[in-house]
Order: sequence, then C-alpha cells, then structure tokens
Amino acid sequence: MSALGDGHLVLIIEDNDKNLKLVRDILQFHGFRTAESTDAEAGLRLAHELRPDLVLMDIALPGMDGVTALRELRSQPSTETIPVVALTASAMQADRERLLGAGFDGYLVKPIDIKAFPGQVLAYCRKARR
Ligand code: MN
Repeated sequence: MSALGDGHLVLIIEDNDKNLKLVRDILQFHGFRTAESTDAEAGLRLAHELRPDLVLMDIALPGMDGVTALRELRSQPSTETIPVVALTASAMQADRERLLGAGFDGYLVKPIDIKAFPGQVLAYCRKARR
C-alpha cells in the first residue's frame, strides 16, 4: 500500500455510484482519506464539518449543481480556502474554460486516468488557496 496520499482528506461529491466508488477506491488505495456525498447539499455540510484538503466536485448533480456548490463554498470563511476541482465528463475546451472561469482550481475529465489520478489529486491537495 502506497502512502502517496499522506492522509490528505478528499471530499468527493459525485452522484454516479460507479464513478464515486472508483474515485474513492483509488484514493484510499493510495493513502488518502475520503469522505463522500451524492448531492451538493449534503456535500456542503460535510465540507463545513470536515474542512477537507480538497473537494472533487461533479458538475451535473441532482438538485444544486456543482458550479452553484462551488460558489457556496467560496462564500463562507470556513470553506473559502479549500481547493475545489471539477470532475467533468466534458472534453470540450469551451466547457473547461467555463469551469475555470467559474473559479474551480482545476478540472479532471471523466473517465479518470487511473494511473495519473493519485498524483494529480495530491498536487491539488497541496494547493490550498492563499
Ligand atoms: Mn453527475
């Protein structure tokens, strides 16, 4: 078992069970701690409670979408410094630019690159805002 993740806590907000399980299993295998939610509303509550090192945010969610949830996180002093990375199924450049313009710290395209993913996540964990 690799300790690459060094115990960093990653909050995964993703409504697709298969994607959620894949991301969680890869991160746990590589020594990250994880928390998870299948909707933005519960995810926001967890973010306030746990103050994770990173939030991985699906965009299309039931109820509140990922862009709105990002704005909520950024509007609260307790969560505004947490890096938030979009998990997006879209490979289109315009959509990626829209996400960065909305204030995400980055994006990871689904399906995720299983080999590269743990290192990408670790880099974002170390990128606490300001
Ligand atoms: Mn979704």
